[in-house]
Amino acid sequence: MKNGKTSVLNKQQIEIYEEMGDQHILTSLDTPLKEDAFDLSDDEKIERIQDHFKSIMDILGLDLTDDSLKGTPYRVAKMYVKEIFSGINPANKPKVALFDNKYQYNEMLIEKNILLQSTCEHHFLPIYGKAHVAYIANGKVIGLSKINRLVQHFAKRPQVQERLTMQILHDLQEVLETEDVAVYIDAKHMCVSTRGIKDISSSTVTSAYGGKFENEATKKEFLRAIHSQQEY
Ligand SMILES: [Zn+2]
Repeated sequence: MKNGKTSVLNKQQIEIYEEMGDQHILTSLDTPLKEDAFDLSDDEKIERIQDHFKSIMDILGLDLTDDSLKGTPYRVAKMYVKEIFSGINPANKPKVALFDNKYQYNEMLIEKNILLQSTCEHHFLPIYGKAHVAYIANGKVIGLSKINRLVQHFAKRPQVQERLTMQILHDLQEVLETEDVAVYIDAKHMCVSTRGIKDISSSTVTSAYGGKFENEATKKEFLRAIHSQQEY
């Protein structure tokens, strides 16, 4: 092998990798992490990623002495660790305080049109769209903005949309101590619009329902509410 390394892919591996990426097949509901995922500090991670990203740019033929490109490896590394992939680290999960449901509001509560920005784990390109979340309180309620923050926490990982949907569902069920949670995500994938099939108009819808939301009437009420247009 030319560079003496053994990491050159054979034709069969390339076909499997491309197929998995294009079909967005996921392997597990937990984000696949190494056991030593958090042994390095954020600063150490930024330093290492910066070096590697510098190599990628260099191999692409870019002139890293150019003033405009010089700081890019650092900017990308910091963005990965501190921003778009900060949700990999459970230490960054927002603290959630629950309140007693004093006024006994036991109907469905929907937080809709939550801004969703994530990253496709197959191509490292953006996923963007809207998430809609609902729950029926079981004695405890959550601050509304906390739902948005939890959605955004799980979105700040390399993701597959189905897994993101399930992770949000499971976490909210745990936090709210109820099975009665619904999650619906409608999002566009830049890897579908800018490469491969290059479809700019399609979006991907995923949903997950627990407890009472598996009941058709409850599910319908939720879907009707998130699809209704409101003039404000
Ligand atoms: Zn992708």
